[in-house]
Amino acid sequence: MIIQLQRDARSEQVEKLMGYLSQKRFTTKAVNTQKGSYLMAIGKGEFDIRAVGFMDGVADIHVVSDDYKLVSAKWKVDPTEIDLGDGVVIKQGQLALMAGPCSIEGEEQINQTIQHLKEAGITIMRGGVYKPRSSPYSFRGMGIDGLRLWFRMAKENGIKIISEVMQVSQIEEMYDYVDIFQVGARNTQNFNLLDELGKVDKPVMIKRGISGTIDELLYSAEYVFSGGNEKLLLCERGIRTYEKASRNTFDINAIPILKAKSHLPVISDPSHGIGIRDHVPAIALASVLAGADGIIYEAHQDPRKAFSDGQQTLNFNQSIKLAENLREVMKMRSEML
Ligand code: PEP
Ligand code: MN
Repeated sequence: MIIQLQRDARSEQVEKLMGYLSQKRFTTKAVNTQKGSYLMAIGKGEFDIRAVGFMDGVADIHVVSDDYKLVSAKWKVDPTEIDLGDGVVIKQGQLALMAGPCSIEGEEQINQTIQHLKEAGITIMRGGVYKPRSSPYSFRGMGIDGLRLWFRMAKENGIKIISEVMQVSQIEEMYDYVDIFQVGARNTQNFNLLDELGKVDKPVMIKRGISGTIDELLYSAEYVFSGGNEKLLLCERGIRTYEKASRNTFDINAIPILKAKSHLPVISDPSHGIGIRDHVPAIALASVLAGADGIIYEAHQDPRKAFSDGQQTLNFNQSIKLAENLREVMKMRSEML
């Protein structure tokens, strides 16, 4: 159960409410986010819902029986919007595009990517400075110095940054330089990391775990929300199956299902989803029709020379074309629905 508290609810009112609920054998957890205050009540006891609804300090009450509650569409009708400032907003009905290399490699690459994004009309740049690599001998990223350099160049050009945070200690050092923290597929169930991201006032995009279910992705988002941060995005990036013909099996089904189950924006990552450069545009375009609110894909000035994931990275010509086609398909979708 989610009890939405009034903005000006006083602590004695909240304590009275908690006392009442604990008498009814509910455990309670207070959640304070950037946008509101909630009291989560977990239990199976019986009580008069109207009596709680009329208690002082209560704005609204919602019975949500799923284990993920705050991220559920069952109580919040309006879809969540993520405002990155300077007019960059990720929201339903618009298609957010995020593109850039798998890994940040250096000044020249950052510069070329930024010029490309400006030409393509894309305002959010992706790139990893901390890279989760299967082999410890692969390039593992430029680290915080790379992020600082990238930030300086991006800011000069009005470009927003999304970058992966791999561990708790990186949150603070990255905080000033990212617009969105990305939680990678290998960290979707790093609950300590999720708890800590709940404490920051910055958007977080959580990718689906490598073998994660849709519900597990929603539980992960619930961790961050219940920790106090409701600026959240969900990302489908493919899952591991028995299929070997593609890097992952992109689960197109997840897009409409997540959209129906949650009020959070849903982003598609076709690059990791299929892992084959020439097929990335098809999966990206299909994701738009499936209802995605944004697409994140890998692009590089010379994918063959990319430090990581070159095989699934678009060159700039392919990227320009894709951005154009995505907008066309988005227009089509808006007219169809
Ligand atoms: C990435 O975005 O480059 C990445 C490592 O993605 P994922 O966590 O989905 O594998
Ligand atoms: Mn990658």
